[in-house]
Amino acid sequence: MSTVNLNSAEVSVREVRLGSITGFHGGASDLVEASHCGKLKDKSRSFSQCLGCSTSNAACTAVLIQDAAVISHGPVGCSTCLHEFAFTYRVNAGLRGVSNPTQRKIYSTNLEEKDTIYGGTAKLEETIRKVYQRAKPSVIFVLTTCAAGIIGDDVESVANAVEKEIGIPVVAIFCEGFRSKMWTSGFDAGYHGIARKLIKQPEKKRNIINVVNFWGSDVFNQWFRRFGYEANYLTPYSTLETIQHSSEAACTVQACATLGSYLATALDQAFGVPELKTSPPYGIAQTDRWFRELGQILGKEEEVEAFLEEERAKYMPEIQKLREKLSGKTAYVTAGASHGHSLLALLGELGMKAVGAAIFHHDPSYDSESVEADTLKHTVEDYGNVENYTVCNKQEFELVNVLNRLRPDILLARHGGMTLWGAKFGIPSLLIGDEHFGMGYEGLVKYGNQILTTMENDEFVTNLSKHAINPYTDWWLNQEPYTFLKGGKK
Ligand code: SF4
Repeated sequence: MSTVNLNSAEVSVREVRLGSITGFHGGASDLVEASHCGKLKDKSRSFSQCLGCSTSNAACTAVLIQDAAVISHGPVGCSTCLHEFAFTYRVNAGLRGVSNPTQRKIYSTNLEEKDTIYGGTAKLEETIRKVYQRAKPSVIFVLTTCAAGIIGDDVESVANAVEKEIGIPVVAIFCEGFRSKMWTSGFDAGYHGIARKLIKQPEKKRNIINVVNFWGSDVFNQWFRRFGYEANYLTPYSTLETIQHSSEAACTVQACATLGSYLATALDQAFGVPELKTSPPYGIAQTDRWFRELGQILGKEEEVEAFLEEERAKYMPEIQKLREKLSGKTAYVTAGASHGHSLLALLGELGMKAVGAAIFHHDPSYDSESVEADTLKHTVEDYGNVENYTVCNKQEFELVNVLNRLRPDILLARHGGMTLWGAKFGIPSLLIGDEHFGMGYEGLVKYGNQILTTMENDEFVTNLSKHAINPYTDWWLNQEPYTFLKGGKK
């Protein structure tokens, strides 16, 4: 059944659309099995510390578009985390060859108490006009917040009315934080707005391949050019024009299915762009599968085999050396879902043992409904079960408790702020923000060397652990980490 309906202004949240969960503890293989036999059931926590907000993830799909402006329709506090994308945009512009990064254009309607009584639509109309006059963007996105949702502002009607007046697309994105326990629902909300209002039906096919990604380095062009194609990155560092023509691509690939599931499927189902369904190319087994599926879609099977042969000849000696050095070392992973599974695959490929993982949510399937898209299934089948696998929406109190017990040789994290907890225990901790860094054969070598360097240079974390004050006392650290997960461990 299709999960994509571009005639609707909103897309349903992941709990409803995909059956996603935020509470589980057990073996990764148990989770894979439960996901595919319809037995997956969410567990709630009787205590939790904090959650992310979908607004921020929706902003991630919009703020980094080169010629866009973004308005948060709500109290100013809801937009206070959005500046981080201005930082991300500047820091990573070099990875994409953007020589002249422009200022990000982020605004708020600043809803106040009286607006929650009289309504905020007039303020929104005025803000869209002002943003258009001041920033002269090619497209304006309006992100909804809890306050706008609670008072029932008709944001879609306002966006459509002002769009006619100013002559550029105004895209309403429905991403109020209270809608979903999964902040990744914000990605889907953002991409839904983009697919329904910006992507045009194709006029002709082009030699481009859509890459749904965050802001990682440009590894895809060096691969695609060998086969006669260019990467069309969506949506960070894209423009309105490149988004509009993404329907003319030969196919769509994703750096992370947690991010790209909805947009890739929307491009497939509504615009006829085939989706490369297998998981992203991390680890040798998955890299080979990924390139072979790409070869099938492009009709370039022989070229792909020749490419893989070259990659093996070039990188396998070094991979073998890394395996000898890293074999038997232990690691713990904390990350978003699909990328976390990819990091576990890298560890398995390098001969390391993943002693556990805290993964922020779990999607039993993605929008394509293809079993081939299940990154965790591939990881478990290729490298074996991961015990102490937890689905945990950044509940740091659980993470700290587990790290204290498992004391791995290294902590791999994907999100800022998480490595701190490993470092305080003297555990070498590594965060790599470039999500393309570990892709392919070369990426495996780069990631392996980075792991090695981090483990060998542990003086800082060793000293830090001697002086760090941990806010969690023995009262908590001596309790079972999943005390507050209803139903406990199993
Ligand atoms: S959860 Fe609601 S109130 Fe909080 S930041 Fe997100 S949109 Fe604003």
